[in-house]
Amino acid sequence: MRRSLLILLPLILSGSLAADRALGGEVFNKVVIDPGHGGKDPGSVAFGLVEKHLTLDIAKRIEKLLIGKGIQVELTRREDVFIELADRAAVAANSPDTILLSLHFNAHADRSISGTETLYWPGSESGRELASYVQSELGRRLVTRNRGFRPERLKVLELAPVTGVLVECGFLTNRWESQRCGAEWFRQIVAEEIVQGLLRYREAGE
Ligand SMILES: [Zn+2]
Repeated sequence: MRRSLLILLPLILSGSLAADRALGGEVFNKVVIDPGHGGKDPGSVAFGLVEKHLTLDIAKRIEKLLIGKGIQVELTRREDVFIELADRAAVAANSPDTILLSLHFNAHADRSISGTETLYWPGSESGRELASYVQSELGRRLVTRNRGFRPERLKVLELAPVTGVLVECGFLTNRWESQRCGAEWFRQIVAEEIVQGLLRYREAGE
């Protein structure tokens, strides 16, 4: 639905603003990948899984895929260490044509809740576009609940001076989804879907 709207909007609406918004993209050359949490901050912990380990695993999978496409990559951490949000955001500060991808897994007191979602900084048009591209790919190959994309006042996105999104790759507190998040095949497909979303966003900017 979203994809067909993206194609139709410029035909329906006149004016460059509408067209720009509908076809928004950006030819980035580098992706700063931020694996959420680390060190003394484990993130969410459920069913024997620890968020900080899963985010680093997916980050390295995405890195490998992007390098294969000729895109530069920098990770905010490569090991199990604690890094302040400001320092994570700063990694993206001095590189032109860069986007920020922060990776997390979700948790909720209601263990029935599952699915993926992508968050962007409120008011960031490019963040919203990037989020829509990434989220429309997530769950395309997996039967995963699509919780959509939405603005959220997240510090790491506020501090980063580039287009950025934060992807919540699944709920560790949902028993069914936690089993998937703990499986390498699932994390590989999520990584491939995220990369697909990034590349579509990049193509749209050409
Ligand atoms: Zn997190």
